[in-house]
Amino acid sequence: METILVVNAGSSSVKFQVYAIEGEGTLRRHIKGQIDGIGSRPRLRASAAGGDALADRAYPIETVPDVPAAMAVAGAWLRDELRVTPIAVGHRVVHGGPDYAKPVLIDHGVVSRLERFVSLAPLHQPHNLAPIRSLLTNFPALPQVACFDTAFHRTHDAVADHYAIPHQLHAEGVRRYGFHGLSYEYIARTLPSVAPDIAKGRVIVAHLGSGASMCALKDGRSVESTMGFTALDGLPMGTRPGQIDPGVVLYLISEKGMPAAKVQDFLYRECGLKGLSGISNDMRELEASTDPHARLAIDCFVYRIGLNAGMLAAALQGLDAFVFTAGIGENSSSIRARVASRLEWLGAVLDAGENARHARLISEAGSGIPVYVIPTDEELMIAQHTLALLMNGQSHNTRSERVS
Ligand code: AMP
Repeated sequence: METILVVNAGSSSVKFQVYAIEGEGTLRRHIKGQIDGIGSRPRLRASAAGGDALADRAYPIETVPDVPAAMAVAGAWLRDELRVTPIAVGHRVVHGGPDYAKPVLIDHGVVSRLERFVSLAPLHQPHNLAPIRSLLTNFPALPQVACFDTAFHRTHDAVADHYAIPHQLHAEGVRRYGFHGLSYEYIARTLPSVAPDIAKGRVIVAHLGSGASMCALKDGRSVESTMGFTALDGLPMGTRPGQIDPGVVLYLISEKGMPAAKVQDFLYRECGLKGLSGISNDMRELEASTDPHARLAIDCFVYRIGLNAGMLAAALQGLDAFVFTAGIGENSSSIRARVASRLEWLGAVLDAGENARHARLISEAGSGIPVYVIPTDEELMIAQHTLALLMNGQSHNTRSERVS
């Protein structure tokens, strides 16, 4: 069986999935796993596509001190115990900078170019690149493909990607990029089969997970995103504030004496739902809580989604459909109901029963615009891109099957 390995490496975890390549380039999810607690309490957990557990084992910290070591442990487990030897590896890489508008086959030159974007995504890019570098060293003949969270947004008009700052900074790369692009690309490619009549229209997609953003799609292409230079902008998230006046950052520096590293840590880890509630970054816990701060956190989240929908509808000059996706968007009927009530002026009217049972189409028959719930699948997108680059030397859609 030929397989493709998909890797999503973060600071303390490496998530991986193995896809079997079946006839005519069909991909079937085969194994899903992760090593988390890297450098603290490393643990490998993996399951088969049907849900059967394949591994749950702890490792001493010395065995898995960092991301490359985790990659080596996961690779050895797949190779030695499951006899899985992938023909290629697809990586999620958060930042492709201004130039990469599609996935790319990795060589040492590509890695050097991607290292230039570490300063644009300091918390993600180094961890994304670490397993790429170690695989290049240990398995130089193994094809690797980088798939970028920014690439899907490279179709934006210049006016959408410029900040009102001197041009020299824009030329250096200080511009609006947008993220969650693999998720939006998956939704854009799924829409023609779910809703052929609106797939070419004006659609807002709300990716509401621990990270959250929204994207304006026109004819399946991104025209605007709520995220910008970094994944801090836009909606409030689990631990990130979303849109914030830069004056707040100046206040933290000048009045609170916070050095840059502390401000960075604060903005990435202490704000958002966690900061607002003082309880948790997890929407399930906030929904279960009766604490007024938990309620305020949810209120702010919903309010900002509504505001940003207005902004994206303005970018699109109208709206033909709204799509919810990711952990909160796919699972929380109450958040969907509250968001939809802020979209009534745009025509959205939910069907409470369809929303409660997480149907694909959750709006009433008479709703001015259809509202959908479409589960995202960024890993499948990466596997498709990787296979397409292997087969054709370019990345385009392949037949695929969602198995989860
Ligand atoms: P993701 O990053 O896409 O995995 O999404 C994670 C977020 O989804 C977390 O805030 C979870 O609390 C939230 N989530 C997952 N399931 C549910 C659920 N049933 N109800 C509310 N929130 C959920």
